[in-house]
Amino acid sequence: PAASAGGDGKSKKIFVLGGDGFCGWPVALHLSDIGHEVVIVDNLSRRKIDVDLGAQSLTPITPAEERVATWNGLSSREPIRFVNLDLALEYDRFVQMMREERPDTMIHFAEQRAAPYSQKTPATKRYTVDNNVRATHNVLCGIVESGLDIHLVHLGTMGVYGYGNSGGEIPEGYIDVQLPGGRERSILHPAYPGSVYHATKCLDATLFQFYAKNDLLRLTDLHQGIVWGTNTDLTARDERLVNRFDYDGEYGTVLNRFLMQAACGIPLTVYGTGGQTRAFIHIKDTCKCIELAVANPPEPKPDWGAVEILNQVAQTARVRDVARIVSDLTGVEMQLTENPRNEAAENELAAENELDVSNRKFKMLGLEPTLLESAAGLMTEVTEVANKYQHRVDRSKVVSKAYWNKERAAAAGAAD
Ligand code: NAD
Repeated sequence: PAASAGGDGKSKKIFVLGGDGFCGWPVALHLSDIGHEVVIVDNLSRRKIDVDLGAQSLTPITPAEERVATWNGLSSREPIRFVNLDLALEYDRFVQMMREERPDTMIHFAEQRAAPYSQKTPATKRYTVDNNVRATHNVLCGIVESGLDIHLVHLGTMGVYGYGNSGGEIPEGYIDVQLPGGRERSILHPAYPGSVYHATKCLDATLFQFYAKNDLLRLTDLHQGIVWGTNTDLTARDERLVNRFDYDGEYGTVLNRFLMQAACGIPLTVYGTGGQTRAFIHIKDTCKCIELAVANPPEPKPDWGAVEILNQVAQTARVRDVARIVSDLTGVEMQLTENPRNEAAENELAAENELDVSNRKFKMLGLEPTLLESAAGLMTEVTEVANKYQHRVDRSKVVSKAYWNKERAAAAGAAD
Protein backbone atom coordinates (compact mmCIF):
# COMPACT_ATOMS: atom_id res chain seq x y z
CA PRO A 1 0.00 0.00 0.00
CA ALA A 2 1.02 3.60 -0.60
CA ALA A 3 2.95 5.00 2.34
CA SER A 4 1.83 8.16 4.06
CA ALA A 5 1.76 7.64 7.85
CA GLY A 6 0.77 11.14 8.77
CA GLY A 7 3.03 14.05 8.07
CA ASP A 8 6.50 12.83 8.99
CA GLY A 9 6.15 9.78 6.76
CA LYS A 10 7.10 7.37 9.56
CA SER A 11 4.99 4.29 10.11
CA LYS A 12 4.64 3.68 13.84
CA LYS A 13 3.28 0.93 16.03
CA ILE A 14 0.47 2.52 18.03
CA PHE A 15 -1.60 1.22 20.94
CA VAL A 16 -5.03 2.85 20.94
CA LEU A 17 -6.18 2.54 24.56
CA GLY A 18 -9.97 2.81 24.65
CA GLY A 19 -10.06 2.14 20.90
CA ASP A 20 -13.57 0.65 21.00
CA GLY A 21 -15.10 3.97 22.09
CA PHE A 22 -16.73 6.88 20.29
CA CYS A 23 -13.45 8.75 19.59
CA GLY A 24 -11.07 5.77 19.76
CA TRP A 25 -12.68 3.65 17.03
CA PRO A 26 -12.61 6.22 14.18
CA VAL A 27 -9.10 7.30 15.29
CA ALA A 28 -7.89 3.66 15.18
CA LEU A 29 -9.21 3.29 11.62
CA HIS A 30 -7.73 6.63 10.57
CA LEU A 31 -4.26 5.78 11.91
CA SER A 32 -4.41 2.35 10.28
CA ASP A 33 -5.55 3.86 6.99
CA ILE A 34 -2.59 6.26 6.84
CA GLY A 35 -0.16 3.39 7.39
CA HIS A 36 0.42 2.95 11.12
CA GLU A 37 0.24 -0.45 12.81
CA VAL A 38 -2.62 -0.30 15.33
CA VAL A 39 -3.39 -2.42 18.39
CA ILE A 40 -6.66 -1.58 20.17
CA VAL A 41 -6.66 -2.14 23.94
CA ASP A 42 -10.09 -1.88 25.57
CA ASN A 43 -11.95 -3.67 28.37
CA LEU A 44 -15.36 -2.91 26.77
CA SER A 45 -16.48 -1.21 29.99
CA ARG A 46 -18.42 1.41 28.01
CA ARG A 47 -20.59 -1.30 26.47
CA LYS A 48 -21.19 -2.75 29.96
CA ILE A 49 -22.24 0.66 31.33
CA ASP A 50 -24.86 0.83 28.56
CA VAL A 51 -26.28 -2.45 29.82
CA ASP A 52 -26.38 -1.11 33.39
CA LEU A 53 -28.09 2.13 32.29
CA GLY A 54 -30.56 0.27 30.08
CA ALA A 55 -29.32 2.50 27.25
CA GLN A 56 -27.63 1.74 23.96
CA SER A 57 -25.82 3.47 21.13
CA LEU A 58 -28.32 4.90 18.65
CA THR A 59 -26.30 3.19 15.94
CA PRO A 60 -26.12 -0.63 16.06
CA ILE A 61 -22.40 -1.09 16.79
CA THR A 62 -21.10 -4.59 16.12
CA PRO A 63 -18.99 -6.53 18.66
CA ALA A 64 -15.35 -5.38 18.85
CA GLU A 65 -13.97 -8.52 17.17
CA GLU A 66 -16.46 -8.22 14.31
CA ARG A 67 -15.77 -4.55 13.54
CA VAL A 68 -12.01 -5.19 13.60
CA ALA A 69 -12.36 -8.24 11.31
CA THR A 70 -14.56 -6.21 8.95
CA TRP A 71 -11.93 -3.47 8.74
CA ASN A 72 -9.13 -5.96 8.17
CA GLY A 73 -11.15 -7.52 5.34
CA LEU A 74 -11.55 -4.16 3.60
CA SER A 75 -8.13 -2.63 4.24
CA SER A 76 -4.84 -3.50 2.58
CA ARG A 77 -2.87 -2.16 5.56
CA GLU A 78 -1.31 -4.11 8.42
CA PRO A 79 -4.29 -5.72 10.25
CA ILE A 80 -5.62 -4.00 13.39
CA ARG A 81 -5.53 -6.24 16.45
CA PHE A 82 -7.86 -6.06 19.46
CA VAL A 83 -6.84 -6.97 23.01
CA ASN A 84 -9.43 -7.07 25.79
CA LEU A 85 -7.55 -5.73 28.82
CA ASP A 86 -8.47 -3.56 31.82
CA LEU A 87 -5.83 -0.85 32.21
CA ALA A 88 -6.89 -0.09 35.76
CA LEU A 89 -6.78 -3.70 36.96
CA GLU A 90 -4.35 -5.67 34.77
CA TYR A 91 -1.09 -3.81 35.22
CA ASP A 92 1.32 -6.75 34.92
CA ARG A 93 -0.34 -8.05 31.77
CA PHE A 94 -0.17 -4.59 30.24
CA VAL A 95 3.55 -4.16 31.00
CA GLN A 96 4.21 -7.61 29.54
CA MET A 97 2.31 -6.62 26.42
CA MET A 98 4.33 -3.41 26.05
CA ARG A 99 7.58 -5.35 26.38
CA GLU A 100 6.53 -7.85 23.72
CA GLU A 101 5.04 -5.39 21.25
CA ARG A 102 7.36 -2.40 21.79
CA PRO A 103 4.94 0.33 20.63
CA ASP A 104 6.29 3.73 19.53
CA THR A 105 3.17 5.60 20.62
CA MET A 106 0.14 5.06 22.85
CA ILE A 107 -3.04 7.10 22.64
CA HIS A 108 -5.00 7.10 25.87
CA PHE A 109 -8.78 7.40 25.49
CA ALA A 110 -9.51 4.74 28.12
CA GLU A 111 -11.43 6.56 30.84
CA GLN A 112 -15.02 6.94 32.08
CA ARG A 113 -15.82 10.16 30.26
CA ALA A 114 -19.31 11.32 31.15
CA ALA A 115 -19.63 14.13 33.70
CA PRO A 116 -23.33 13.42 34.46
CA TYR A 117 -22.56 9.71 34.97
CA SER A 118 -19.69 10.62 37.31
CA GLN A 119 -22.12 12.68 39.41
CA LYS A 120 -24.95 10.15 39.41
CA THR A 121 -24.36 8.10 42.58
CA PRO A 122 -21.61 7.50 45.15
CA ALA A 123 -20.81 4.28 43.25
CA THR A 124 -20.34 6.06 39.90
CA LYS A 125 -18.26 8.82 41.52
CA ARG A 126 -15.96 6.24 43.06
CA TYR A 127 -15.80 4.14 39.92
CA THR A 128 -14.84 7.18 37.85
CA VAL A 129 -11.94 8.09 40.16
CA ASP A 130 -10.78 4.48 40.64
CA ASN A 131 -10.92 3.69 36.94
CA ASN A 132 -9.53 6.89 35.46
CA VAL A 133 -6.75 7.70 37.88
CA ARG A 134 -5.58 4.09 38.12
CA ALA A 135 -5.64 3.59 34.36
CA THR A 136 -3.61 6.75 33.75
CA HIS A 137 -1.11 6.01 36.47
CA ASN A 138 -0.72 2.38 35.36
CA VAL A 139 0.06 3.57 31.83
CA LEU A 140 2.70 6.03 33.07
CA CYS A 141 4.27 3.67 35.58
CA GLY A 142 4.18 0.89 32.96
CA ILE A 143 6.06 3.00 30.39
CA VAL A 144 8.82 3.63 32.94
CA GLU A 145 8.95 -0.05 33.94
CA SER A 146 9.10 -1.18 30.31
CA GLY A 147 12.17 0.98 29.74
CA LEU A 148 10.86 1.94 26.30
CA ASP A 149 10.80 5.43 24.78
CA ILE A 150 7.03 5.56 24.19
CA HIS A 151 5.25 8.80 23.32
CA LEU A 152 1.95 8.99 25.22
CA VAL A 153 -0.87 11.11 23.81
CA HIS A 154 -3.72 11.59 26.29
CA LEU A 155 -7.21 12.92 25.73
CA GLY A 156 -8.03 15.48 28.35
CA THR A 157 -10.81 18.03 28.33
CA MET A 158 -11.39 21.76 28.16
CA GLY A 159 -13.25 21.24 31.44
CA VAL A 160 -9.96 21.16 33.40
CA TYR A 161 -9.73 24.94 33.01
CA GLY A 162 -13.18 25.41 34.54
CA TYR A 163 -16.01 27.25 32.88
CA GLY A 164 -16.89 30.86 33.56
CA ASN A 165 -13.61 31.14 35.37
CA SER A 166 -11.42 33.00 32.97
CA GLY A 167 -10.91 36.60 32.09
CA GLY A 168 -9.66 36.41 28.56
CA GLU A 169 -8.30 33.79 26.24
CA ILE A 170 -7.52 30.37 27.72
CA PRO A 171 -3.94 29.60 26.74
CA GLU A 172 -2.56 26.18 25.84
CA GLY A 173 -2.05 24.60 29.22
CA TYR A 174 0.28 27.10 30.87
CA ILE A 175 0.08 30.64 32.22
CA ASP A 176 2.87 33.05 33.10
CA VAL A 177 2.78 34.18 36.71
CA GLN A 178 4.93 36.12 39.10
CA LEU A 179 5.71 34.03 42.19
CA PRO A 180 5.99 35.57 45.67
CA GLY A 181 9.46 37.07 45.69
CA GLY A 182 9.12 38.30 42.16
CA ARG A 183 10.35 35.36 40.06
CA GLU A 184 8.52 34.81 36.77
CA ARG A 185 7.40 31.32 35.91
CA SER A 186 5.17 29.47 33.48
CA ILE A 187 2.90 27.14 35.46
CA LEU A 188 0.02 24.80 34.65
CA HIS A 189 -3.22 26.75 34.29
CA PRO A 190 -5.09 26.39 37.61
CA ALA A 191 -7.41 23.39 37.67
CA TYR A 192 -11.05 24.19 38.31
CA PRO A 193 -13.11 21.05 37.68
CA GLY A 194 -16.90 21.11 37.52
CA SER A 195 -17.54 17.39 38.13
CA VAL A 196 -15.83 14.28 39.50
CA TYR A 197 -15.05 13.28 35.93
CA HIS A 198 -13.35 16.61 35.22
CA ALA A 199 -11.50 16.30 38.55
CA THR A 200 -9.94 13.02 37.33
CA LYS A 201 -8.58 14.85 34.27
CA CYS A 202 -7.01 17.45 36.58
CA LEU A 203 -5.40 14.65 38.60
CA ASP A 204 -4.16 13.11 35.35
CA ALA A 205 -2.52 16.43 34.44
CA THR A 206 -0.60 16.48 37.73
CA LEU A 207 0.59 12.91 37.15
CA PHE A 208 1.75 13.87 33.64
CA GLN A 209 3.66 16.83 34.98
CA PHE A 210 5.44 14.64 37.52
CA TYR A 211 6.34 11.82 35.11
CA ALA A 212 7.55 14.23 32.43
CA LYS A 213 9.81 15.96 34.93
CA ASN A 214 10.96 12.95 36.91
CA ASP A 215 11.20 10.22 34.28
CA LEU A 216 11.58 12.38 31.17
CA LEU A 217 8.60 10.76 29.45
CA ARG A 218 7.36 12.25 26.19
CA LEU A 219 3.80 13.32 26.97
CA THR A 220 1.17 15.18 24.99
CA ASP A 221 -2.09 16.18 26.72
CA LEU A 222 -4.90 17.24 24.40
CA HIS A 223 -7.58 19.37 26.01
CA GLN A 224 -10.46 18.45 23.79
CA GLY A 225 -13.77 20.21 23.29
CA ILE A 226 -17.13 18.46 22.93
CA VAL A 227 -16.94 16.07 20.01
CA TRP A 228 -19.85 15.97 17.59
CA GLY A 229 -20.70 13.94 14.49
CA THR A 230 -20.70 10.17 14.29
CA ASN A 231 -19.26 8.55 11.19
CA THR A 232 -16.09 9.37 9.30
CA ASP A 233 -15.45 8.35 5.68
CA LEU A 234 -13.81 5.18 7.03
CA THR A 235 -16.51 4.09 9.51
CA ALA A 236 -19.07 4.74 6.75
CA ARG A 237 -17.41 2.21 4.44
CA ASP A 238 -19.46 -0.70 5.81
CA GLU A 239 -22.44 -0.80 8.15
CA ARG A 240 -20.52 -3.16 10.47
CA LEU A 241 -17.95 -0.38 11.01
CA VAL A 242 -20.53 2.14 12.22
CA ASN A 243 -19.36 4.37 15.07
CA ARG A 244 -21.22 4.59 18.37
CA PHE A 245 -23.67 7.45 18.91
CA ASP A 246 -24.64 8.31 22.47
CA TYR A 247 -27.87 10.21 22.87
CA ASP A 248 -28.92 9.35 26.42
CA GLY A 249 -28.95 11.96 29.18
CA GLU A 250 -25.74 10.68 30.78
CA TYR A 251 -23.45 10.07 27.79
CA GLY A 252 -25.05 12.05 24.95
CA THR A 253 -23.05 15.23 24.40
CA VAL A 254 -24.84 18.43 23.61
CA LEU A 255 -24.71 18.94 19.84
CA ASN A 256 -25.25 15.27 18.98
CA ARG A 257 -28.18 15.18 21.39
CA PHE A 258 -29.74 18.20 19.64
CA LEU A 259 -29.27 16.60 16.22
CA MET A 260 -30.87 13.38 17.41
CA GLN A 261 -33.75 15.25 19.05
CA ALA A 262 -34.28 17.18 15.81
CA ALA A 263 -34.36 13.98 13.77
CA CYS A 264 -37.04 12.57 16.10
CA GLY A 265 -39.06 15.79 16.31
CA ILE A 266 -38.36 16.14 20.06
CA PRO A 267 -37.87 19.81 21.16
CA LEU A 268 -34.18 20.64 21.74
CA THR A 269 -33.68 20.66 25.52
CA VAL A 270 -31.42 23.55 26.54
CA TYR A 271 -30.35 23.52 30.21
CA GLY A 272 -30.77 26.76 32.15
CA THR A 273 -30.42 29.86 29.98
CA GLY A 274 -28.30 28.08 27.37
CA GLY A 275 -25.74 30.81 27.94
CA GLN A 276 -23.02 28.28 28.80
CA THR A 277 -20.21 28.62 26.29
CA ARG A 278 -18.56 25.38 25.23
CA ALA A 279 -15.80 24.31 22.87
CA PHE A 280 -16.66 22.03 19.94
CA ILE A 281 -14.83 19.80 17.49
CA HIS A 282 -16.06 17.46 14.77
CA ILE A 283 -15.00 13.80 14.97
CA LYS A 284 -13.11 14.10 11.64
CA ASP A 285 -11.02 16.90 13.14
CA THR A 286 -10.38 14.76 16.23
CA CYS A 287 -8.84 12.13 13.93
CA LYS A 288 -6.71 14.75 12.18
CA CYS A 289 -5.52 16.24 15.49
CA ILE A 290 -4.42 12.84 16.79
CA GLU A 291 -2.53 12.22 13.54
CA LEU A 292 -0.73 15.55 14.03
CA ALA A 293 0.00 14.89 17.71
CA VAL A 294 1.45 11.45 16.87
CA ALA A 295 3.72 12.98 14.22
CA ASN A 296 5.04 15.64 16.62
CA PRO A 297 6.24 14.06 19.89
CA PRO A 298 7.80 16.55 22.31
CA GLU A 299 11.46 16.29 23.28
CA PRO A 300 11.87 15.03 26.86
CA LYS A 301 12.84 17.82 29.25
CA PRO A 302 13.15 18.07 33.04
CA ASP A 303 11.32 21.35 33.58
CA TRP A 304 7.93 22.90 34.18
CA GLY A 305 6.72 23.03 30.61
CA ALA A 306 7.67 19.44 29.85
CA VAL A 307 4.17 18.20 28.98
CA GLU A 308 3.10 19.35 25.53
CA ILE A 309 -0.45 20.68 25.92
CA LEU A 310 -2.70 21.57 23.01
CA ASN A 311 -6.32 22.69 22.98
CA GLN A 312 -8.12 20.33 20.62
CA VAL A 313 -10.90 22.70 19.73
CA ALA A 314 -12.39 24.04 16.49
CA GLN A 315 -14.35 26.90 18.03
CA THR A 316 -16.47 27.94 20.98
CA ALA A 317 -20.19 28.69 20.94
CA ARG A 318 -23.07 29.29 23.37
CA VAL A 319 -25.28 26.25 23.84
CA ARG A 320 -28.42 28.19 22.89
CA ASP A 321 -26.72 29.46 19.70
CA VAL A 322 -25.84 25.88 18.79
CA ALA A 323 -29.49 24.92 19.43
CA ARG A 324 -30.55 27.85 17.22
CA ILE A 325 -28.35 26.61 14.32
CA VAL A 326 -29.91 23.13 14.62
CA SER A 327 -33.41 24.57 15.00
CA ASP A 328 -33.01 26.76 11.90
CA LEU A 329 -31.69 23.79 9.93
CA THR A 330 -34.42 21.37 10.96
CA GLY A 331 -37.42 23.45 12.01
CA VAL A 332 -37.54 21.77 15.46
CA GLU A 333 -38.09 24.15 18.40
CA MET A 334 -35.83 24.77 21.40
CA GLN A 335 -37.08 24.36 24.95
CA LEU A 336 -35.38 25.81 28.04
CA THR A 337 -35.38 23.38 30.99
CA GLU A 338 -34.15 23.36 34.60
CA ASN A 339 -30.36 22.89 34.70
CA PRO A 340 -29.43 19.73 36.65
CA ARG A 341 -25.80 20.90 36.75
CA ASN A 342 -24.02 23.30 39.01
CA GLU A 343 -22.94 25.63 36.22
CA ALA A 344 -21.87 29.24 36.09
CA ALA A 345 -24.66 30.52 33.84
CA GLU A 346 -27.02 29.59 36.62
CA ASN A 347 -25.15 31.59 39.17
CA GLU A 348 -26.65 35.03 39.73
CA LEU A 349 -23.24 36.50 40.44
CA ALA A 350 -21.62 35.26 37.28
CA ALA A 351 -23.01 36.52 34.03
CA GLU A 352 -23.30 33.90 31.32
CA ASN A 353 -20.04 32.13 31.03
CA GLU A 354 -17.51 32.91 28.40
CA LEU A 355 -14.89 30.66 26.92
CA ASP A 356 -12.30 32.04 24.63
CA VAL A 357 -9.74 29.42 23.72
CA SER A 358 -6.45 29.37 21.88
CA ASN A 359 -5.97 26.56 19.36
CA ARG A 360 -2.88 28.10 17.78
CA LYS A 361 -0.63 25.04 18.04
CA PHE A 362 -2.96 22.76 16.07
CA LYS A 363 -3.51 25.45 13.47
CA MET A 364 0.25 25.85 13.10
CA LEU A 365 0.54 22.09 12.62
CA GLY A 366 -1.96 22.30 9.76
CA LEU A 367 -5.45 21.80 11.23
CA GLU A 368 -8.20 23.52 9.27
CA PRO A 369 -11.06 23.24 11.76
CA THR A 370 -14.64 22.58 10.72
CA LEU A 371 -16.81 25.48 11.91
CA LEU A 372 -20.42 25.03 13.00
CA GLU A 373 -21.76 27.91 10.91
CA SER A 374 -20.57 26.24 7.71
CA ALA A 375 -21.22 22.65 8.74
CA ALA A 376 -24.84 22.25 7.62
CA GLY A 377 -23.78 19.30 5.44
CA LEU A 378 -22.11 17.48 8.33
CA MET A 379 -25.09 18.22 10.60
CA THR A 380 -27.48 16.84 8.01
CA GLU A 381 -25.32 13.71 7.84
CA VAL A 382 -25.88 13.20 11.59
CA THR A 383 -29.65 13.78 11.39
CA GLU A 384 -29.76 11.24 8.55
CA VAL A 385 -27.99 8.68 10.73
CA ALA A 386 -30.38 9.52 13.58
CA ASN A 387 -33.36 9.20 11.23
CA LYS A 388 -32.21 5.85 9.95
CA TYR A 389 -32.00 4.38 13.45
CA GLN A 390 -34.93 6.28 14.99
CA HIS A 391 -36.68 3.01 15.82
CA ARG A 392 -33.88 2.32 18.35
CA VAL A 393 -34.48 5.55 20.32
CA ASP A 394 -35.79 5.21 23.87
CA ARG A 395 -37.32 8.66 24.46
CA SER A 396 -37.31 8.18 28.22
CA LYS A 397 -33.48 8.16 28.18
CA VAL A 398 -32.95 11.51 26.46
CA VAL A 399 -32.92 13.76 29.53
CA SER A 400 -30.24 13.42 32.22
CA LYS A 401 -31.33 11.94 35.56
CA ALA A 402 -28.07 12.91 37.28
CA TYR A 403 -28.14 15.93 39.57
CA TRP A 404 -24.86 17.62 40.46
CA ASN A 405 -25.65 18.12 44.14
CA LYS A 406 -28.33 17.44 46.73
CA GLU A 407 -29.82 20.94 46.57
CA ARG A 408 -30.43 20.61 42.87
CA ALA A 409 -31.86 17.13 43.18
CA ALA A 410 -34.25 18.32 45.90
CA ALA A 411 -35.29 21.35 43.85
CA ALA A 412 -36.16 19.03 40.98
CA GLY A 413 -38.03 16.66 43.27
CA ALA A 414 -35.45 14.01 42.56
CA ALA A 415 -33.77 13.50 45.92
CA ASP A 416 -32.55 9.91 46.21
P1 NAD B 1 -15.98 6.34 25.26
O1 NAD B 1 -16.55 6.02 26.58
O2 NAD B 1 -16.84 6.15 24.05
O3 NAD B 1 -14.62 5.53 25.02
C1 NAD B 1 -13.72 5.21 26.06
C2 NAD B 1 -13.28 3.77 25.86
O4 NAD B 1 -12.34 3.43 26.88
C3 NAD B 1 -14.43 2.78 25.96
O5 NAD B 1 -14.44 1.94 24.82
C4 NAD B 1 -14.15 2.02 27.25
O6 NAD B 1 -14.60 0.67 27.19
C5 NAD B 1 -12.64 2.14 27.38
N1 NAD B 1 -12.15 2.05 28.77
C6 NAD B 1 -12.57 2.77 29.85
N2 NAD B 1 -11.90 2.39 30.95
C7 NAD B 1 -11.02 1.43 30.57
C8 NAD B 1 -10.05 0.63 31.26
N3 NAD B 1 -9.88 0.72 32.58
N4 NAD B 1 -9.32 -0.27 30.54
C9 NAD B 1 -9.50 -0.40 29.20
N5 NAD B 1 -10.41 0.31 28.50
C10 NAD B 1 -11.16 1.21 29.18
O7 NAD B 1 -15.46 7.86 25.31
P2 NAD B 1 -15.05 8.85 24.13
O8 NAD B 1 -16.17 9.79 23.92
O9 NAD B 1 -14.51 8.08 23.00
O10 NAD B 1 -13.89 9.65 24.83
C11 NAD B 1 -12.53 9.20 24.76
C12 NAD B 1 -11.63 10.11 25.56
O11 NAD B 1 -11.73 11.44 25.04
C13 NAD B 1 -12.02 10.18 27.03
O12 NAD B 1 -10.88 10.12 27.85
C14 NAD B 1 -12.70 11.52 27.17
O13 NAD B 1 -12.49 12.06 28.44
C15 NAD B 1 -12.04 12.34 26.07
N6 NAD B 1 -12.96 13.39 25.60
C16 NAD B 1 -14.13 13.06 24.96
C17 NAD B 1 -15.00 14.06 24.54
C18 NAD B 1 -16.30 13.76 23.84
O14 NAD B 1 -17.03 14.71 23.51
N7 NAD B 1 -16.63 12.53 23.56
C19 NAD B 1 -14.67 15.41 24.78
C20 NAD B 1 -13.46 15.71 25.44
C21 NAD B 1 -12.62 14.69 25.83
